Amino acid sequence: MAGSVLGDKVSDAARYTLVSDAGRTQRWCGVRLIFLGPPGAGKGTLALLLAERLKVTHLSSGNLLREMVRESVQQGNPRGKEAARLMESGSLLPDELVTELILERMGNLGKKIPFVLDGFPRTVEQAKALDEALARSGDSPIDLTIGFEVSEETMVGRLAGRRVCEKCGANYHLERLPSKRRGLCDRCGGVLRTRPDDNPQTIRNRLKVYESQTAPLLEFYRAQGKLREVSGEGRIEEQYQLLLDLLRTEQLVNDPAPPE
Ligand SMILES: [Zn+2]
Repeated sequence: MAGSVLGDKVSDAARYTLVSDAGRTQRWCGVRLIFLGPPGAGKGTLALLLAERLKVTHLSSGNLLREMVRESVQQGNPRGKEAARLMESGSLLPDELVTELILERMGNLGKKIPFVLDGFPRTVEQAKALDEALARSGDSPIDLTIGFEVSEETMVGRLAGRRVCEKCGANYHLERLPSKRRGLCDRCGGVLRTRPDDNPQTIRNRLKVYESQTAPLLEFYRAQGKLREVSGEGRIEEQYQLLLDLLRTEQLVNDPAPPE
């Protein structure tokens, strides 16, 4: 596929926006990705950028779960309170509960839509359930899993700067992805807070949980030939460019056709 006639001076973001605006989002091949990596690897931020620029749906299990927990705590549901306690201590929620919730949300989206899954699957069991659900409904399978690798030092530093909107759950970072108005959400004007599970003790706990439960997933996708590992270090735009290059190499996104 030939490159864009717009040339390299135009940023990728501008090109993609142009194409989307021209109603040609279908050219983006319905890419279906899973982002894997420890907390702080930049998955959420990259998924958000990809979603906004390539018009794919960003499915963040963390945001979905926090939403659900908030609702059920407000309603005095004891299951919600238990889930909130587990999340605040950095533990994983029961496999079945998470799988049900995510698959239901995906089912509501309709078939063949492009998405990035961020935070799900976290276990091999969840990954199998996802593959089975897609196959059972005659839907497109996962195209690729991206494994992000970062040092522990980078991870802890990034998590300390992370902020989340208390209203809509949008993620920000003091340095990497600041909001336009300090302390307020760009989308809904909600107040930005530190996540309760981003304190140092919990971060170490989450890393342990990640290594023991999520790392086997890398093997699962490697065995399917669907794993690509990339560095999670560096600035967010650098990471984004690396990711796009990878998707092009894999022919999961095409360079857009020139505008008419
Ligand atoms: Zn918000």
